[in-house]
Amino acid sequence: MSETVNKNSRKTNGKSSSRPLRCPICGAPRQQEFRPFCSKRCADVDLGRWLSEAYVVSGPASEAAEEAPSMPQLAPKED
Ligand SMILES: [Zn+2]
Repeated sequence: MSETVNKNSRKTNGKSSSRPLRCPICGAPRQQEFRPFCSKRCADVDLGRWLSEAYVVSGPASEAAEEAPSMPQLAPKED
């Protein structure tokens, strides 16, 4: 998973490391156990949003990929 990347990007996004970060879903102070959310419920909400977004995006994207002509891979000449 990309959990590590997510964590890093969120860390650099914060201006002050001492400032208490809040749940992006409901705005409540986040819990260490469910970071960056305040509870399992909010984590599920975010996951649901992410999945629905990914589904919408991947729909037309995969369609376009199927329409795109597959380029025949040219084997590199060996001299
Ligand atoms: Zn929350």
